[in-house]
Amino acid sequence: MERERDDRWRHKAGLAMLGAIMLASCIPAGRPSGGQGGPPTRPSAGETATCLSDLSATGTRFRALPDRVTGPGCGQFGTVQLLDIGVPVTGLGAMRCGEARAFGAWVREDVAPAAVRMLGGELARVDTFGSYACRNVVGSAVNAERRSGHAQANAVDIAAFHLRDGRRIAVLGGWTGEDEPTRDFLRTVRRAACRRFGTVLSPDYNAAHADHLHLEADRAGFCR
Ligand SMILES: [Zn+2]
Repeated sequence: MERERDDRWRHKAGLAMLGAIMLASCIPAGRPSGGQGGPPTRPSAGETATCLSDLSATGTRFRALPDRVTGPGCGQFGTVQLLDIGVPVTGLGAMRCGEARAFGAWVREDVAPAAVRMLGGELARVDTFGSYACRNVVGSAVNAERRSGHAQANAVDIAAFHLRDGRRIAVLGGWTGEDEPTRDFLRTVRRAACRRFGTVLSPDYNAAHADHLHLEADRAGFCR
């Protein structure tokens, strides 16, 4: 109850307060927490249907997954299992359709061309740390009791990019490493992600994101 009231109050808070909360949180305020007592956020049936048809139109191969509650504040609603987006991807589980659509477009239209342009290599694989996980936000003491976007399968964590010539461009090591083209490439793909996802968190955000980019299809407009 206390938490619900608190969330409602946050909805009404001014932008300054919103900013302050977002700085401290992996799940920005203004979005239902889906935590204990809060209803899990769900896309409408129409939203999902449109998204599935968008996904098909891009040539993506996927399997639509059944809706289900998976735990307190956790669920998979309007999710898919991506089978082929044109580039091999490791580690993906259930993904909300809107998240999957943004992710596929980012890989094909932003990451792959940037690899050619900036690194002179063809993108061969993307390694992730996964998409769905029934868990709370990590790396923020203030929001440790809030559910992560992963709890609704609405986020994916990107660990590394493999090129056809064998190079592996990892967020860990690459973000602050010696190689300038690698650093530039990683920042370029982050910037591109910020145009497609509502929340993008990189090593610039906090230590919990030192080894991955968190890409979440909400409407928070938070890019760091
Ligand atoms: Zn994440």
